[in-house]
Amino acid sequence: MHTGDLHESSLAQLSRRLRARELSCVELTQTLLDRIRSLDAGINSFITLCPEQALEQARAADRLIERQEGGVLTGIPLAHKDIFCTRGIRTSCASRMLDNFIAPYESTVTARLREAGAINLGKLNMDEFAMGSSNETSFYGPVRNPWDRRRIPGGSSGGSAAAVAARLVPGATGSDTGGSIRQPAALCGVTGLKPTYGRVSRWGMIAFASSMDQAGILARSAEDVALLLGAMAGFDERDATCANRAVPDYLAQLERPLAGLRIGLPKEYFQSAMDAGIAEEVQKALDEYSKLGALVQDISLPHTRYVGTVYSLLASAEASSNLARFDGAHFGYRCKDPQGLEDMYKRSRCEGFGRQVKSRILLGTYALSARNYTSVCLQAQKVRRLILNDFLKVFAEVDLIMTPTIPVPARFLDRSAGPMSPCGDDPFTPAVNLAGLPALSLPVGQVTRLPAGLQLIAPHFHEERLLNAAHQFQKVTDWHRESPPVQQGNGRSAL
Ligand code: GLN
Repeated sequence: MHTGDLHESSLAQLSRRLRARELSCVELTQTLLDRIRSLDAGINSFITLCPEQALEQARAADRLIERQEGGVLTGIPLAHKDIFCTRGIRTSCASRMLDNFIAPYESTVTARLREAGAINLGKLNMDEFAMGSSNETSFYGPVRNPWDRRRIPGGSSGGSAAAVAARLVPGATGSDTGGSIRQPAALCGVTGLKPTYGRVSRWGMIAFASSMDQAGILARSAEDVALLLGAMAGFDERDATCANRAVPDYLAQLERPLAGLRIGLPKEYFQSAMDAGIAEEVQKALDEYSKLGALVQDISLPHTRYVGTVYSLLASAEASSNLARFDGAHFGYRCKDPQGLEDMYKRSRCEGFGRQVKSRILLGTYALSARNYTSVCLQAQKVRRLILNDFLKVFAEVDLIMTPTIPVPARFLDRSAGPMSPCGDDPFTPAVNLAGLPALSLPVGQVTRLPAGLQLIAPHFHEERLLNAAHQFQKVTDWHRESPPVQQGNGRSAL
């Protein structure tokens, strides 16, 4: 079989071709490794490539398939955001702090995917410690948007989104604390799912803001996302916040017709600051949903205006506490020639963390201090509850909420910029994390060849509703099949 067009196949198609033995796992893995080597210099989506391990896993997968064993993910090459611990492989979180950290254990997410037969091609670039929405804060340099390499891919799972968009991998893991799966999915034209808080184990996923972090998926289509979610989701006794609930068969629910589905459009997310092109693409997508039989109505989420402030304070407070473990003594970077213990702590942290991370630690420590705790953190928690209540109230009347994922197309990279405000590039995504809800972004159009994304939000633990609605849209449209023009070389001259 000709391997030239393999990268254009979806994960579901690859799965069928592998099991029909039209193609071997080794062939597929080698083809993608070659593609990454020839194209990724200009995108910078990978931090670490694992060719030997990947080929070894591929050979084992081929043996399984030969014996007609294994499942739908056997032999499927994936790559993981470098926030997931992978045993024996560097796990850097895109920080100088962990540049030398070889994880001694495997995260639940990567372990489950591996047990399901998936192959790990390597570790993907991201914003440092997942703080950011542009992928400009990585210690390993920015990721470039495959649609236009002068622009950001979004973040923090920008490496995952760019690698899927550039057809380097059929699917990738990501994490989403305030939008880090959905926003880069939108800017790169792929499908990204942030599951309900507690649906997927956080064990072995390096913590940023533990009450909001959630592992998820970036792939080309809702069908591909459904395949991966089925393998990743479910109870894990090593994560105390992981829900002990059965995992539904997501694939089985993709085909439900949408007639009568009630969709709410929150007026706070459809305002004048939106790019006219994005507004138009989103409107066309909503018209498509009406044609599919959905009933669209206006709703309101009145506490939306507090989301940015509440998110910034609480995410920074949790980050300041989580990142205290990186002290030069236990993990990762230690400064040269420390003059005593305090000097070692200070300089290791000062030199090991980048500016964005340090600015969050400062803000978070300030918010958590005894003097400010009640007036800042406690108050923010109360407003967080009001934000959740807005959603719960609305979900008594609608089945899904839809908003643009981000109100503008991908902006230009800006290397001179200092620390950014946490929600500067992703104002429409963090409310979902504050409320612990599941949400998905799917490509619904383009503005001057730059992708536009639509965000779907469902009640807690209703991922199947998101996947069903996205799949039905993808059956009647082709936006998820669009791929960026191939550019060889490093693309840096474009800057
Ligand atoms: N932009 C948000 C932040 O910088 C979201 C990050 C995330 O989801 N990991 O905090």
